[in-house]
Amino acid sequence: MNVRDSEHIIAELNKKEPYELTQKLNEADLIIINTCSVREKPVSKLFSEIGVFKKHKKEGAKIGVAGCTASHLGKEIIKRAPVVDFVLGARNVSKITQVIDKKHAIEIDTSYDESTYDFGDYRSNPYRVMVNISIGCDKKCTFCIVPTTRGEEISIPSSLIVQEVQKAVNGGAKEVTLLGQNVNNYGRRFGIEQNGAKNFTELLREVSKVEGLERIRFASPHPLHMDDEFLEEFASNPKICKQIHVPLQSGSSKILKEMKRGYSKEWFLNRCEKIRKMVPNVAISSDIIVGFPGESEEDFADTMDVLEKVRFDTLFSFIYSPRPHTPAAAYENQIDRAVASKRLQTLQARHKEIQRASMDAQVGKISQVLFDDLKSEGKIAGRTDEGRLVLIKGSEELLGKIANVKITKAYLTQLEGELV
Ligand code: SF4
Repeated sequence: MNVRDSEHIIAELNKKEPYELTQKLNEADLIIINTCSVREKPVSKLFSEIGVFKKHKKEGAKIGVAGCTASHLGKEIIKRAPVVDFVLGARNVSKITQVIDKKHAIEIDTSYDESTYDFGDYRSNPYRVMVNISIGCDKKCTFCIVPTTRGEEISIPSSLIVQEVQKAVNGGAKEVTLLGQNVNNYGRRFGIEQNGAKNFTELLREVSKVEGLERIRFASPHPLHMDDEFLEEFASNPKICKQIHVPLQSGSSKILKEMKRGYSKEWFLNRCEKIRKMVPNVAISSDIIVGFPGESEEDFADTMDVLEKVRFDTLFSFIYSPRPHTPAAAYENQIDRAVASKRLQTLQARHKEIQRASMDAQVGKISQVLFDDLKSEGKIAGRTDEGRLVLIKGSEELLGKIANVKITKAYLTQLEGELV
């Protein structure tokens, strides 16, 4: 989401102001730090980054802080770092050109409706593009700061989404990732009257009609909204990539209830089992938090049990990080850091074995790879339908093309192969 927000900011500056990108810090007239606040670490990093930019920036260059930390700290950022010229919340990126010339401007309105805003064109990767389908989140997961920083969920009208996808395809895109905080809750609320797709499954059908578009991905869906109709569309629509993120958070039904996730361990296992049955070659990824307040050894054992049963191909796992404005931060039964850290090591060590096996199993297979990244030493990289990174010997004429590749070697996070 932040990567796409950065693209929106760049697009606006390109369209309305005489700015262009530079790779050299000391040449920049404007430095924008687009922040995350989902854990404590990136927030603390912000102030050290500001210090570095202050030291190396060109005389007179402006510094702006955008994104989720901007939303939740607001003017506190300027109080702590007066060198910062403006603060722009995650839901206000369309206002970038209104704040760059206002000293100490603060735009952090989380009720602002950006859902029909027409951003300029900028794609960091022209072949694999991201298109927002909703903004904000209506869930109230007790560990999560996102509803505070990004506000209530509003869906973007499907006609605008299809138009945006078509525009990207006309510019050479083969793959689109539909983006939302809670992507498969699409259609819950619109800022204007909506005549097209009413829910996420219908939207997938509409987007897949775009001619020239070959692949559709989406991030991130919520396990609660993975109904049978959606799973059937996922399995049967040939344009939808067979990669799905199913964020578990915890394998314990007790902890899931404390987290207010709205599903149980059984529901989660049932959904994943169904996905694997319907799409045998599917790659499933997930997020897990260990050390959530009150997590006992039995609760953690439930998480390990789900890991064994689902065998996630990719996993993003973290120790619980108490965030301001979230109910869980005030829970009294916080878990000792050393205990949480040991659980994380156990989880990650086991997952590494599973990931290794999943990658090794690809050797000898023939995969369709969309090439989008030219590397040094005569190599080119791309992604399989299931989202695995593949490197082969090849040159720029493969850029933006989908080709069959025989996988010859597997590493933990990438594959090697040759064209067939
Ligand atoms: S669904 Fe839950 S975890 Fe995801 S953004 Fe919304 S509140 Fe946060």
